[in-house]
Amino acid sequence: MKTIVLKFGGTSVGTIDRIKKVCKIIAFYKKKKNKVVVVSSAMSGVTNELVNKSKLISSNFDRAEYDVLVSTGEQASCALIAGRLKHNGFKSRSWTSWQLPILTDGPHSSARIGSIGIKELNRYLKSGGIPIITGFQGVSKDLRITTIGRSGSDATAIMLAKFIKADECIIYTDVDGVYTTDPRQYKKAKKIKKIFYDEMLEMASLGSKVMQPTSVQDAKLNKIDVKVKSSFVSKSGTLITNSKKAFSDQIITGISSTKNDAKITIVGVKDRPGVAASIFKPLSKNLINVDMVVQNISLDGRETDLTFTIKADDLKKTEKLIKQNKKISFKKLSFDKGVSKVSIIGVGMITTPGITYRMFQALASKKINILVISTSEIKISVLVSVKHVKRAIAALHKEFKLD
Ligand code: ADP
Ligand code: ASP
Ligand code: MG
Repeated sequence: MKTIVLKFGGTSVGTIDRIKKVCKIIAFYKKKKNKVVVVSSAMSGVTNELVNKSKLISSNFDRAEYDVLVSTGEQASCALIAGRLKHNGFKSRSWTSWQLPILTDGPHSSARIGSIGIKELNRYLKSGGIPIITGFQGVSKDLRITTIGRSGSDATAIMLAKFIKADECIIYTDVDGVYTTDPRQYKKAKKIKKIFYDEMLEMASLGSKVMQPTSVQDAKLNKIDVKVKSSFVSKSGTLITNSKKAFSDQIITGISSTKNDAKITIVGVKDRPGVAASIFKPLSKNLINVDMVVQNISLDGRETDLTFTIKADDLKKTEKLIKQNKKISFKKLSFDKGVSKVSIIGVGMITTPGITYRMFQALASKKINILVISTSEIKISVLVSVKHVKRAIAALHKEFKLD
């Protein structure tokens, strides 16, 4: 008898009809005599609606209450799934995070799962029941409700697979696997059969929304193989794994792009030790995530320009913090909201020279200007104007023979 964790994302449970369909998938696994554990997201749109409501109440909505609020969507979808399964004659019940419990560490809205109580869950599975567990939420040691970051139900499923020692963990979503790039943005995108954790982690962190980045980290750390499949069509999906068997010989595995980035340039800051730290300290204190950073080589050794990217939502706050910062002086501050980061990812680039050149040449041939560059062992990212993103993806997809 296998134990299988099935996770359903927001679109998969987005309507009553969809919930009925998802229950058929659950029944399929149950009828094969598996122990089936289900994790569900909120119905699509529900979490966004709750987030918007919190913003209307206060621009500085209390983080603990934010978690109480936004975690409610999952409770509703889980009750609906359990209710439907019972209607169909199965033994099922919903479980919220405090009932198991799913214990988390770290700050509200971006906590991490530390442990999951599985005693009751195991007893229930043995008795033939199908537990339906709220994704995204946890409970802190001081018994407050927490959430584990947007799209966090992926991490809930993976951590449940770890704690109950599941044989399989399947993430059901609205696409039939991980593609070379977002298939909704680029029609020639191809499904990837197998992808290494590290590549998936980079793709997810660099904007491929299909998996939550933290959840891929959890899968990697705990060596949980994860399948990504569609709840809409019955097709083979993608396996996220570290197993080296049957991998393709592509140099580049995928292309990701971000949305809503902004670029800031501080012109004429002093070229002295500690200046960069003074600029970034208040940003870090205010939880503003700084991404790409470049500093010009100063010609006279006295002044330099510093450019960095943040999320566009943080732009106003960042501008205010820089202007208020008494520890720095500068000549000018400039902003650009319409930028996006396009990245190529693949473990193949470790052993293949010339990838950077090919990327830059492909972009140059389409007259796409590169604003900022950053690299790591298995990825190269460039910042470009948002109006060039689609063309950049198409050019790179073709250059690296992913079409
Ligand atoms: P869910 O609600 O099931 O969690 P998400 O919206 O979080 O679903 O993720 C699925 C979406 O991810 C797809 O609809 C697709 O547009 C997007 N996506 C972005 N990049 C990729 C990619 N490389 N492969 C597949 N899907 C991707
Ligand atoms: N409902 C939450 C969100 O929209 C968590 C999830 O879908 O995984 O972010
Ligand atoms: Mg998701």
